[in-house]
Order: sequence, then structure tokens, then C-alpha cells
Amino acid sequence: MFSDRIGRISPSATLAMTAEAADLRAAGVDVINLSVGEPDFPTPINIREAGKQAIDDGHTRYTPGGGTKDLKRAAAEKMSRDNDLHYELDEILISCGGKHSLYNACQVLFQTGDEVIIFSPFWVSFPDFVAVTGAKPVFVKTDAHRQFEPDFNDLKEKITSNTRGIIINSPSNPTGGVWGDNAILEVLNLAKNSNIWVFSDECYEQLTYDRSYVSIAKLAESYDKVLTFQSCSKTYAMTGWRIGYTAGDKRVIKAMGKLQGQSTSCPNAIAQVAAIEALTGDQSEVERMRVEFKKRRDYIVDRLNRMDGVSCITPGGAFYVFPDFSSHMGEDAKIKCSNDLSMYLLKEKSVVTVSGDAFGGEGHVRFSYAASNDDLRRAMDFVEDALNEI
Ligand code: PLP
Repeated sequence: MFSDRIGRISPSATLAMTAEAADLRAAGVDVINLSVGEPDFPTPINIREAGKQAIDDGHTRYTPGGGTKDLKRAAAEKMSRDNDLHYELDEILISCGGKHSLYNACQVLFQTGDEVIIFSPFWVSFPDFVAVTGAKPVFVKTDAHRQFEPDFNDLKEKITSNTRGIIINSPSNPTGGVWGDNAILEVLNLAKNSNIWVFSDECYEQLTYDRSYVSIAKLAESYDKVLTFQSCSKTYAMTGWRIGYTAGDKRVIKAMGKLQGQSTSCPNAIAQVAAIEALTGDQSEVERMRVEFKKRRDYIVDRLNRMDGVSCITPGGAFYVFPDFSSHMGEDAKIKCSNDLSMYLLKEKSVVTVSGDAFGGEGHVRFSYAASNDDLRRAMDFVEDALNEI
């Protein structure tokens, strides 16, 4: 009944766990949800007010398919201010979130016969974005002890004449890893003089804790096949507003705009007005959230590393930790794999996590620390109890 295309993708594992948590909560269970990929803070008040005002001002109709000029200008201003990147308006496309931007870009650049490099552990959607185009996702190993930077021997082996794309996500979901400039320069060097598009998914660019963020396009000044993807979702606690944007080669931007015009008409008009306030208004809430996330990161990493047999690197960004629990797993053990552990935490302790295998990281479990200090403390107590029981 269905096309081959739809058979190539699977449901998002992270959204499935979020739904599971909602069901348990609806059944009256006191769940601690550490599976979420969104800030637990409200959208800042100035942005909410701008959204309300947009409705009263009549911003309730279709906008140009690729977003309003005002919002493109705001995105250009933001990237110039924060990333020292300078784009013209025809090099920017506004979409319905970063996910939509990445999906569109894969659709216009990749097809059957192409290969696209994805670093493992990876965000759950990357392989599906690639597979749905008919192209083949090719996974490259990373080194957990170096912020999950690439294993360059593996990368060199995996780049072939069919490679058309390399997707980088630093800070990363699920690991929180932030790559050093040298690692990025090395990837760019390998991509140079080829037909390879480098995607930089920068949706966590404002959430780095140990160094300031450098956009990949900034490091790649002489390489013009870099597409930058940013989003209002995580930076401004605006996940439900659905605004993201792509910056790069204007031919790619135009093709993505054509696809978007025929699939969604335009991003939400009200959210576009609110996003202008987000990108160009008062930025103090961004810093406030960052400081809070850093405290939580330090807490959760410390708690996990105190547990017997658990190893957790200190990730440089985002709001996830990806500890290794493999010493608690085994063929003959009660817990055989990441999924068993994630399910045990869910069923026995009402702590919702996402199993590492969903991200290509068997042996690990992803915890989001976008949760209150109290929830984090209780969840860590429960994880400790669970490890003593298994
Ligand atoms: N990229 C990564 C790595 C993410 O984790 C997410 C969301 O979880 C996105 C992109 C997409 O976010 P949005 O579509 O809300 O901008």
C-alpha cells in the first residue's frame, strides 16, 4: 500500500519516549521525564508578548514561502552578531524548525546512489532524513574521550567518490560533545576539492559551557559548500513555535524554498514575528538559561561518575549526558543492553530516558538535564538504586 520511500524511515525514538511519559503521567504515575529534547523554561516574556501582538496586528496570513524579509534580516543580524557570519537575504531560508530545514536540504541535495556521512552516536533523525531521499547513511565512529570527535581513520576510509554530504552536529544530541576547531578543520580539509556538502547543525550553538562557540562556516572561509542550520527552538525555549533557518549557497536556498513552497506554503506567520524579537531583542534570558544548564550539567555528571561502573564524560554543550553503562550489561545479566536498562528505569523507577541504541550508542543511555534540580536529584537517586538492584 505504501511507497518505498516511507518504508525507509522509522518513528522517532525520542518522541516515542516522550509519548510514553505522557501516557504514564495521564495514568497518575509520578514520572521524572529526562527524555525531553527541549528546555524546561518558558519562552521569554518579550517573545511571548511579540507573538500576542502579532495576532492583534494581523500577522495571520500566508507570508512568502521562504519566510518574511524582516525575519531573514533578523537572522542575518543575529548570525553577524553572534557568529561573525555575514549572509545576504537570498542566502537565508526560514523553515518550520531546524528539523524542517535539515529535511529540506537533504531532499534537494541527496538521492539514490549518494552516500552521506553521519557521526555515531547521532541525532535520531539524521539517518532517516538521508534514507528517505534514497541516499545511504554511512556511519563513522567517534571518540567518547575526545568530546565524541571523529575517528579520522574511519572517516578517511568511509569517504568515497559517492560521498555527497557530511553532517556535523556540535554541540551534539545525544552526547553533548563539542568538537574542537582542529577536528572541524580536519573534516573540512577532507571534504575540500570534492562534491561534498558539509551540514552544520548548530541548534545548540548558544549552549556551550567550557568555551565560546565557533560556527563551522566561520572556520571554513575558503570552502563554500557549508550549510549552517540554526533554530529558535533550544536557544529561546521556543520548540513549539517551529522556527529554524538555513544559511548558505543561494542556489541551494532557492531550491529548498521551492520545495517548501510546495509542501508547507510558509512557516507560521505569528511565530515569524515572535522570532524577530527572539533573534534581535533582549538576549539576557539566553545567558540565564545557559548558566542554569551548566550548573545542572556539573551536578548530573558528578552524580553519574560516583556510581559504580558508570563512566560519563563532561560534555561541553547542549543539555544531554550520554553515560556508558556497559559494565552493568551482559549476555547472562539481568540487563543485557541499553534498551533493557532504559525500560527498567521506566517501569521500576518511573524515570524516562532514551536508550543509547536509538542513537547508535549501544551500552549508553541518554539523559536530558532540561529538568528541575529536584527532578535531577531524585532521578539520580533512582538510577543509583536501580544499579544496586540489577
Ligand atoms: N537538530 C538536533 C541535533 C536536535 O536535537 C533537534 C531537536 O531535538 C533539531 C535539530 C530540531 O529542532 P527544531 O526542529 O525544533 O528546530
